[in-house]
Amino acid sequence: MIDSTMYLVGIRKDTKEYEQGANSCQICRKMIINAGIKEIVVRGNSRGEYTRINIDEWIKNDDLLEGITVY
Ligand SMILES: [Zn+2]
Repeated sequence: MIDSTMYLVGIRKDTKEYEQGANSCQICRKMIINAGIKEIVVRGNSRGEYTRINIDEWIKNDDLLEGITVY
């Protein structure tokens, strides 16, 4: 998985609509970093709307090192 791209889509169970701003939890972040994934592409609310997350930014700005928990 080194230097691979992961695609992420969040769909709300109650409304069946796409979740805006979907992202991974801290545990998944660590697994993504450890897997060597380079980039995550998150689907937005409409077709063709995507957000790209550079995993190097997660490594550089690792909030776990500061004791901040985000879940
Ligand atoms: Zn997770």
